[in-house]
Amino acid sequence: MDARAPRTSPDAAATPRRGADHIAPDCAGENFYAIDRGLRDLLAHYLTAEDFRQLAPHFDRLGRLAGGRLDELARIADRHPPVLHPRDRFGRDEDFIDYHAAYREMEQIAFGDFQFHAMTHRAGALGMDRPLPAVAKYALQYLFVQAEFGLMCPISVTDTSIHLIRKFASTELQDYLLPKMLSGDVALMWKGTQFMTERAGGSDVGSIETTARLENGEWRLSGDKWFCSHADADVALLLARPEGAPAGTKGLALFALPRRLKDGSRNAYRIVRLKDKLGTRSMASGEILLEGAVAYLVGQADQGLKQMMEQVNLSRLSHGVRAAAMMRRCVNEAMVCARSRAAFGNTIIDYPLLRRQLLKITLPAEQALSMFLFAADTMDRANAGSADAANCLRILTPLLKFRACRDNIPVATGAMEVRGGNGYIEEWVQARLVRDAHIGVLWEGTSNINALDIISRAVGKSRAHKSLQAALAKLLDEATTIPAAFRDRLRRTLDRALEFAERVAAEPALEADARQAASGLYHVTSAVLMTAEAARASADARRALFARLVLEHRLGARDPLAPQSHAWERAAAEMLLSERNVVIGEIGGLLV
Ligand SMILES: Cc1cc2nc3c(=O)[nH]c(=O)nc-3n(C[C@H](O)[C@H](O)[C@H](O)COP(=O)(O)OP(=O)(O)OC[C@H]3O[C@@H](n4cnc5c(N)ncnc54)[C@H](O)[C@@H]3O)c2cc1C
Repeated sequence: MDARAPRTSPDAAATPRRGADHIAPDCAGENFYAIDRGLRDLLAHYLTAEDFRQLAPHFDRLGRLAGGRLDELARIADRHPPVLHPRDRFGRDEDFIDYHAAYREMEQIAFGDFQFHAMTHRAGALGMDRPLPAVAKYALQYLFVQAEFGLMCPISVTDTSIHLIRKFASTELQDYLLPKMLSGDVALMWKGTQFMTERAGGSDVGSIETTARLENGEWRLSGDKWFCSHADADVALLLARPEGAPAGTKGLALFALPRRLKDGSRNAYRIVRLKDKLGTRSMASGEILLEGAVAYLVGQADQGLKQMMEQVNLSRLSHGVRAAAMMRRCVNEAMVCARSRAAFGNTIIDYPLLRRQLLKITLPAEQALSMFLFAADTMDRANAGSADAANCLRILTPLLKFRACRDNIPVATGAMEVRGGNGYIEEWVQARLVRDAHIGVLWEGTSNINALDIISRAVGKSRAHKSLQAALAKLLDEATTIPAAFRDRLRRTLDRALEFAERVAAEPALEADARQAASGLYHVTSAVLMTAEAARASADARRALFARLVLEHRLGARDPLAPQSHAWERAAAEMLLSERNVVIGEIGGLLV
């Protein structure tokens, strides 16, 4: 038997639901779509009835896969990271990366079966006669990532590379690349990636040292890319400085770098080594040396960074979705465990401290769910031509990336703790979730870089918060089933958060407050969204309780030397931790 072939591990899908010998079960075998009421309700709201009808079976199928086969493959791929071979067996400098068969099977599910990379660019994915809306794509990413995080990088970066080629490349370059990149045949398709970071700087993109020289009508790149995820992609989008171009970001051009040239030979670059990473271990990140590699200019030479930022922003949104997904997995795992583990004669979910712990990990997960679906819907409206929606998306994207990725870290740790010592052991998914959570605050901009983008550029320059303000005000006006006093409280908090963000944007001396101001905007936005969601007919009214928790715990002042266990919160916890249906009439008294 091939030692690298995926095997059904005895501890995976077949885990008995009751657990064994006192050990609480995990989510193996669950359908992550079927058990996610919030997701199902919101998809029914944001998608057209026809799209929802056609896509619901695919959400359901992926939900089942994510709790089953995909989860099992992810576990194996994480334990068997990719291996770089610098030469082939004939001694030629034909580097290649060896992946475990489990990773290859996940690629088949993602690129072949679901066609994530192409689903919003062309018809044909999932039997649809039209491209999918962004809401559906990100919902599918959300389900996929509840099982496998590492592969979502290659999936997403192929999708976003296609976007850039379609938008900025010449017709000739599009004709060359797009048929391959949009293919649903995994054996033939070309996958994409994006290389920017060099030793001199990741945040400080203007310090890029890679050069581009025009030789006999062909661009040739030389340089050293320090962080290259999906290192063996078939085509990489990267930034380089054409000879003679000015220093800083203005002199950077965008290029498409194929792994193989038109005659089939290898392009002149090498993967020097793979990174030994804390998380995302199933996916290969490497260092790449460009030795006069042939590349194609994409768009205008002096617009490189501006064009690349479109890809960065799309990736940022996807990172927010991935953080939401991992937090959901954490919540699911924690709930399953808390409902069956016994200590001191009781099931642990019955203990007040543990109930609070569960709420603390559930709240950020619910916030991120509301935020990413609203952002995706805003993207769909922007794509349909709404300038207001495009402006609103400008701020929603870094808000989601910044806060959801940060929240993912304590949520993963909290979920690990709910499982006790077993949560620290790599046989259980919590340990991987803790490791994977941390990359979210690094790639596509650290927390500081995203917070500065929100405050200095989205608020200070683009005034994008004005579009957000208008969208949220409308939602609050429409949420007429919610008590007026609660909506007024939200309006006042929204005004204060916007004022604070504007002030930080306007006063250079307040730059160190950028993260606080960005967090305030995120929290109040999520609270308004969850309130509006609770107000809809046949909605899960409990979402408004999450909104109140956000107001109290994320946006309100608290005295660390006074009790926090208020009666309203105990009543709210009772409802939020149960699975029963709650209507708005039952919770009106808890919304003040
Ligand atoms: C596993 C992994 C995979 C990656 N894959 C890719 C990839 O495929 N392609 C790619 O291009 N990059 C990739 N990266 C690189 C990643 O995007 C960078 O590491 C990240 O942008 C930070 O850049 P840096 O490492 O140079 O840190 P620096 O930019 O040196 O930052 C160091 C610290 O300084 C802070 N800082 C910097 N400037 C400011 C400022 N103005 N104000 C306040 N604080 C500041 C940062 O927030 C950070 O905390 C990857 C990274 C990792 C870890």
